[in-house]
Amino acid sequence: MKLPLAYYGDPVLRRKTTPIEKIDDSIRQLVADMDETREAHNGVGLAAPQVHKSISLFITCVPRYDKEKDEVIPGVLKVFINPKIIDYSQELWGLDQGCLSIPGVYGKVYRPAKVTIEATDLEGKTFVETYAYYDAQAAMHENDHINGVLFIDRLTLKERKDFETKLREIKKKYHSR
Ligand code: ZN
Repeated sequence: MKLPLAYYGDPVLRRKTTPIEKIDDSIRQLVADMDETREAHNGVGLAAPQVHKSISLFITCVPRYDKEKDEVIPGVLKVFINPKIIDYSQELWGLDQGCLSIPGVYGKVYRPAKVTIEATDLEGKTFVETYAYYDAQAAMHENDHINGVLFIDRLTLKERKDFETKLREIKKKYHSR
């Protein structure tokens, strides 16, 4: 089932999430619904606060481009429960990004080029994996949501100024009654 998104200005996006203690059917259903929601909006990731759940969970599904065949290979769904960043590279890498919760706003964010994350999967198994470039950016963007941080917080002051009107419009559109 497609879930309603939380938009910029919704306090749930600024709350620090609580860890998940038990992976039960409700979590499995939530992940399925989040994936359906992500797909419906053509997103490469989605965090639980974006569907009004203040719990430590996000998903990614990053497509890749096969240069030789000149085609896009669909991504594979990855589930991160109670994620923790345990290591990252000194090297930075920039990527233009947007967020399903902040429609129409895009900006380049510089983050570590590589990141190592420890998390639990849907089967309850802990895994430690290192991601690079696009995968790393996607995981760090979603991991920020878990901590109440949005990608616009990581833009320069000047860039944020350029978006101020747009941000006000989003607030008005989704939060005025
Ligand atoms: Zn986002």
